[in-house]
Amino acid sequence: MAISHCNRKSTTSDFGGCVGVAHPSLDPGRLDEFSLIEAYFNRPVTRSDVALGIGDDAAVTSVPPEHELVTTVDVLVAGVHFHQSADPRSVGHKALAVNLSDLAAMGATPAWATLGLVVPDVDRSWMEGFSEGFFALASRHNVDLVGGDTVRGPLTVMVQLSGWVPQGTAMKRSGARAGDDIYITGCLGDAGLCLMDINGAVELPRRHAVAVREALDYPCPRIAMGIQLRALATAAIDISDGLAADLGHLATRSGVGAEVSLADLPLSQPYQAHFAEIGWEPALSSGDDYELCFTAIAENRARILALGERFDVAVARVGTITADRNIVFFDRDGSRYIPPRAGYAHFQG
Ligand code: ADP
Ligand code: MG
Repeated sequence: MAISHCNRKSTTSDFGGCVGVAHPSLDPGRLDEFSLIEAYFNRPVTRSDVALGIGDDAAVTSVPPEHELVTTVDVLVAGVHFHQSADPRSVGHKALAVNLSDLAAMGATPAWATLGLVVPDVDRSWMEGFSEGFFALASRHNVDLVGGDTVRGPLTVMVQLSGWVPQGTAMKRSGARAGDDIYITGCLGDAGLCLMDINGAVELPRRHAVAVREALDYPCPRIAMGIQLRALATAAIDISDGLAADLGHLATRSGVGAEVSLADLPLSQPYQAHFAEIGWEPALSSGDDYELCFTAIAENRARILALGERFDVAVARVGTITADRNIVFFDRDGSRYIPPRAGYAHFQG
């Protein structure tokens, strides 16, 4: 059966024609969709496994023989995941970083990204900052941007990232077993502490405010660690919604529980300085840490700590996997600590 309008572009397709909707034309002096892609996103590909990048209907890439493709996507909505007025450089960085963090948790080597960009208009200085932040991190991880889509609408950034692992070696959430050690990279709670500072819940001295702002705006995905951990970890997850929630996901997937010693949580100097005001909550329940939480058998302790030294990443052993399916936190005095909320949840009432 013929469908009317089937040759027309969909209402979301671009800056130009829109079915049935009078669309405001772009302001004079501003860029159209194609010039925008050319100006800010169409950079020469650097990877030999990209047969076709930006400019055709789809990208063509090849995965090395005997490897598996690993793919992730994250959507960042202005006003939900970042402030409307956030520095566009940090938005560009973070949009890619959150995906790199997912691949790190799988032990994958990142390779190719696509970018879905929804913008209310074409603001050159925003585009410049955004693309700078994006490509600075992309080139550090040898990632090529191979395609995307650019449409008009409320500011939203979607990055899809693919990479690969040798067949059958991806780190999963489901491999933890009773008796395994639990580890965390980096420090927890600095992004949450920064949000408390922004909201006025705490007042940080400038040097602390600057340090935690860096953690919130420029998370550092643990790609190199993740790749090495494939051979050492039994399970892994990246901490995007807070340790309590994400360790919970790992435990559920593995059919196990966990005991965590809060005294062993890795906390930054600014966090420790304000501990009396903020307690454990930012470290356990705020989102946006993008550190790895992983488990491993006790025999691998020395190897894991050596990895941290090799990559200059703090690695803390914070607890043990248990057989009973409960997640239990012990405070410094040995009493049980119950987190007031499990983590950031989008659909919680
Ligand atoms: P199509 O209509 O086939 O979806 P488009 O006209 O939307 O293609 O895009 C033209 C080319 O530009 C495609 O190769 C697409 O992948 C790429 N592209 C569009 N937007 C972006 C973006 N924000 N970042 C990177 N590449 C993009
Ligand atoms: Mg096309």
